[in-house]
Amino acid sequence: ARIPMVAGNWKMNFDHLEATAFVQQFARNLKSGRFDFSKCEVALFPAFTALRSVQVLVDADNLRIRYGAQTVSVTSQGAFTGDVSADMLARLGCSYVIVGHSERRKYHPEDDANIVDQVRAVLAAGMQPILCVGESLEERRKGIELDFAVGQVHDVTRDLSDEEAERLIIAYEPVWAIGTGMVATPQSAQDAAEAFREHLASTFDDHVAQMVRVLYGGSVTSKNAVELISEPDVDGFLIGGAALHVDELTRICMLT
Ligand code: 13P
Repeated sequence: ARIPMVAGNWKMNFDHLEATAFVQQFARNLKSGRFDFSKCEVALFPAFTALRSVQVLVDADNLRIRYGAQTVSVTSQGAFTGDVSADMLARLGCSYVIVGHSERRKYHPEDDANIVDQVRAVLAAGMQPILCVGESLEERRKGIELDFAVGQVHDVTRDLSDEEAERLIIAYEPVWAIGTGMVATPQSAQDAAEAFREHLASTFDDHVAQMVRVLYGGSVTSKNAVELISEPDVDGFLIGGAALHVDELTRICMLT
């Protein structure tokens, strides 16, 4: 009984005013579509500067939309100019933090060791990490995409306890599919999700493997969402470009 999830990663888009306008419209859309939040979780990932505005709105209107941050510091406080701690995010009402997105791995020195520490920091602050993994075109051409992505999951999760691992969310985001319009086939999203679940079952309790949600990310739109979510091990989406258009994101939620 994994509840599906639609997560919108806004990346470096929308200032706090744009974020506010989006959330207001999004909430109106979902309400008029009689969207059932008990059947699907919805979460937005604004830039740090917009989190407080989203929190105020969600609290004031009692919205069931959840939200989180796109990365987090591995330390709890101190002389780390420019960083934001997990406790700061938890106090802003964040439910989740995206960890290890390929853009963070590429543009910032976020390696596996750092990503492990981020996962721990997020869990310790009572939030859930959305761990992003996925191969690049190079690994796919070699036919080692599943080994590669499962290896990324393994490297980050191997030292977690069952209780910690159970709270993970994994996002399978093949790098070649991000922002390219080249979506993975439902079968390859399913293959990856199934491989993660098998790996989790071999590392942890089988219960963990059944609890962890696996999202697919990479060029998701309302046109491909239905066939992707029909796969038994795909539990929802992490959406970039399509999450910047409120009507499109609403459609995806209604279809999930
Ligand atoms: P797109 O949906 O724009 O391909 O981005 C996916 C992504 O990176 C979400 O984290």
